[in-house]
Amino acid sequence: MAPRVAIIGAGFGGLCMAIRLERAGITTYTVFEKAGDLGGTWRDNTYPGAGCDIPSHLYSYSFENYGSWTRRYPGQPEILAYLQHCADKYGIRRKIRFNTEVVSAAFDGNRWQVTGATGSAGPSTEAFDVVVAAVGQLNRPHLPDIPGMQDFAGTSFHSARWDHGHDLSGRRVAMIGNGSSAAQLIPHVARAAARLEVFQRTPNWVIPKPDAAFGPRARLAFRYIPGVQRVYREWIYRYAEAALYPALAQGWSTDLLRRRALGHLHRQVPDPGLRAKLTPDYPPGCKRVVIDSAFYPALTRPNVDVVTEKIVRITPEGVETTEALHPADTIIYATGFRSTEFLAPMSVTGRDGLDLAERWRAGAEAYLGISVPGFPNLFLLYGPNTNLGHNSIVFMLECQVNHVMACLPHLSAHGPMEVRPEAMAAWTRRLGAAMERMVWQDGCRSWYKTADGRVTNNWPGTTTLYRRLTSRPPRAAYRHV
Ligand code: NAP
Repeated sequence: MAPRVAIIGAGFGGLCMAIRLERAGITTYTVFEKAGDLGGTWRDNTYPGAGCDIPSHLYSYSFENYGSWTRRYPGQPEILAYLQHCADKYGIRRKIRFNTEVVSAAFDGNRWQVTGATGSAGPSTEAFDVVVAAVGQLNRPHLPDIPGMQDFAGTSFHSARWDHGHDLSGRRVAMIGNGSSAAQLIPHVARAAARLEVFQRTPNWVIPKPDAAFGPRARLAFRYIPGVQRVYREWIYRYAEAALYPALAQGWSTDLLRRRALGHLHRQVPDPGLRAKLTPDYPPGCKRVVIDSAFYPALTRPNVDVVTEKIVRITPEGVETTEALHPADTIIYATGFRSTEFLAPMSVTGRDGLDLAERWRAGAEAYLGISVPGFPNLFLLYGPNTNLGHNSIVFMLECQVNHVMACLPHLSAHGPMEVRPEAMAAWTRRLGAAMERMVWQDGCRSWYKTADGRVTNNWPGTTTLYRRLTSRPPRAAYRHV
């Protein structure tokens, strides 16, 4: 009998899982989605300029070519439209339970009791054989803990919760943060606002984004000539693996990346004072490199300032630093996400009452980023140590879904399966050794690691290696309980 599968989240990962189940003829699944629409991060991040710095043809499912991409790097509306297209084409929408947040999942020795809360209807519990958690790493906004934030008299919001009803024109805007989200936002805010002050705690390495619209001939070729999309995708993929990955592995190519980023800074920022403020003092790649060609020019506008003074508090009037009070009408928190709190705030209880949050107290970990000992038939997509600094997460998601699909016949035939502790320990050792040579380890603070410096988010190998590891038959690493 086909297993009953609960998929949590209707973003890139959850939809991929659902489509693969549909294509395998398994329709006994439910997708739980806490929001009223699908799309995950691409539904939530609607700020002006939101988009992806991985090329469109690679930031999409390998099995679902799309003739409608209009440019090399997709904007948020296009990505959301792509996901909606996929959900509709494969008939997934009818299987999504919208506005239902999974608050807990508990293994009862045989099945998972999944409890979802739907608005005022209150929680209800259903049994599933398998749980696939596809909640992402960047789904919960991080708001900083700055004294006085509640006292601000103007309007404030997080970049991932954009207030579309708030008109920025004529306003004095303070933006806290200067990561990838801020970099995309700043050119738009700078054009609209009277004044923009960007509060930068740490400068980022920035490289150009060679974006361009596809011309009519390219679009026709992508749409109608068989194989063109596949070859183009393969080329981008190989370039990322061969040219970008080595830069993160602390070799000569890190210096190449540094030179490329410094060249970009010199070309775009003529003022040496501003250039000095924007020059990082840690290795490129340690934090996620910002890929953007409009960010630096926006910072050179006469109505924009980069403030590097330490923020002391927020007052009703604006942002107070160690040097001055910076009056503001609007504060935008482009301060990232609670990336190391995987699966929170869901309560997940495994075999013999094991609590997942407790097991992960020193930092989240999972075999292949997918399975955790003591949690049979629970699979994670975009779980611990599966994020990348150089290639497409969608590729990683497909590898993870392949692995889950390979497990399903075993657990259907022989009962719930969990990863063996020995396999987990070997995985942790392997990860630790590979991590040693990666550039994320030391020299910077980033969303890739916990407060005490453990890298819980990133995968330290190539994606080609990850594909190979996840496509091994799962039997040897798992046991039935
Ligand atoms: P982020 O990279 O985590 O950046 C957060 C920013 O907020 C940093 O500049 C950080 O400073 C600052 N910050 C946090 N707490 C602060 C505090 N208490 N005081 C002052 N500054 C504070 O978040 P993000 O920009 O939203 O991007 C997250 C990830 O999403 C990216 O790395 C990328 O993977 C993905 N993303 C991609 C794109 C794209 O494809 N172009 C666009 C958006 C997001 P510090 O650096 O000093 O910590």
